[in-house]
Amino acid sequence: MSYDTWGPNLTALRDVAAKAFVNAFDAQPELWLAAPGRVNLIGEHTDYNDGFVLPAAIDRHVLMAVSPRDDRQVHLVAADFGARTSFSLDDVVHDKTQRWSEYQRGVAWALQGAGYTLRGMNAVLSSDVPVGSGLSSSAAIEVAMAYAFQLMSDLELDGVERALLCQKAENQFVGMNCGIMDQYIVSLGRRGHALLIDCRSLEYELVPVPDGCDVVICDTKKRRGLVDSEYNRRRQECERGASILGATALRDISVETFVARQNELDEITRMRCRHVITENQRTLDGVAALRDGDVARFGALMNDSHTSLRDDYEVSCHELDLMVEAAQRQPGTLGSRMTGAGFGGCTVSLVRSEHSPAFVTQVAQAYTESTGVVPDVYVCQAEDGVRRLH
Ligand code: ADP
Ligand code: MG
Repeated sequence: MSYDTWGPNLTALRDVAAKAFVNAFDAQPELWLAAPGRVNLIGEHTDYNDGFVLPAAIDRHVLMAVSPRDDRQVHLVAADFGARTSFSLDDVVHDKTQRWSEYQRGVAWALQGAGYTLRGMNAVLSSDVPVGSGLSSSAAIEVAMAYAFQLMSDLELDGVERALLCQKAENQFVGMNCGIMDQYIVSLGRRGHALLIDCRSLEYELVPVPDGCDVVICDTKKRRGLVDSEYNRRRQECERGASILGATALRDISVETFVARQNELDEITRMRCRHVITENQRTLDGVAALRDGDVARFGALMNDSHTSLRDDYEVSCHELDLMVEAAQRQPGTLGSRMTGAGFGGCTVSLVRSEHSPAFVTQVAQAYTESTGVVPDVYVCQAEDGVRRLH
């Protein structure tokens, strides 16, 4: 096992998982795999408008240690929670007393529902993707589990189908109505790249993130109280806008058409539509900027995205604005914005690597001075999607 391919974060997780595996199963695992968390660089609240998103996988992972079993049982240990559960592949049932295992059960259910024959296994997981911060620990867990089944059972399953079945597990087994972005990027991400996803066609394209930049995620620690009701309201406002403009979805309206016809919309609908329509364009412009190696242009688009989310879509909050403003003031910051649904959660900034250490200190200090809260800050690189580790 080489420390080069593992890196310090994965090595620390391996120590935890290796110990838990021996304790639980009295044997060494046969193989190791890891699935990353993710952050969306630009393209916010565009997914349910059939639009574009541009996430990157990050170097924080769910690590799994796995061995096959000769029976039809799946035994799972969550090393970080000190929890253990098992289920039979012949009857994949819910276990409300071990809710963390709903994701793995859901993946087994979805793979078998698609006709795949699975083999039983022993598995331990340990993760440094923060839970519930919006970096999608749940998608990392699903995709890791799907890949574990794939390796144990010799399944021919490509990255897209894996992502779609994991989304199905989360939608239909866990009961969380998420889009496709998270499972796609966790399944298909590539080191040094972001992934442009067309949320209508589900086509995707890797886009290089230039060297010398870090993706810095700052967690405000504010949890998103309003998010469900406001999210549903935004969706309705978008549908109303698309319908007045005679389109299937806001994805079909160009910025030019919007400018020409915006007077047909009431003020709130106009603001919501303006965000989504310009955000789709910013995402495509951002892809062009990255392809040109123009990180300054990309950063400016991130800043514009935040302004639009704050003023037109009205899904930011005081804490997110403070964090973004502190980030934008730092030397070496190319751009900064809220990421995720809003009303709390994280910001994402693109920062020149040599400035990252000062960025972390200064932004955290400014945020703490204003709010009394110490934020979590993660300096990340765009990382590979799910993969086996040797
Ligand atoms: P997120 O925004 O991180 O995806 P979710 O609520 O969608 O938040 O998913 C978090 C859930 O994923 C947790 O409640 C737990 O069930 C599962 N999970 C996350 N991290 C771990 C872990 N280290 N071990 C076991 N389960 C985990
Ligand atoms: Mg989740």
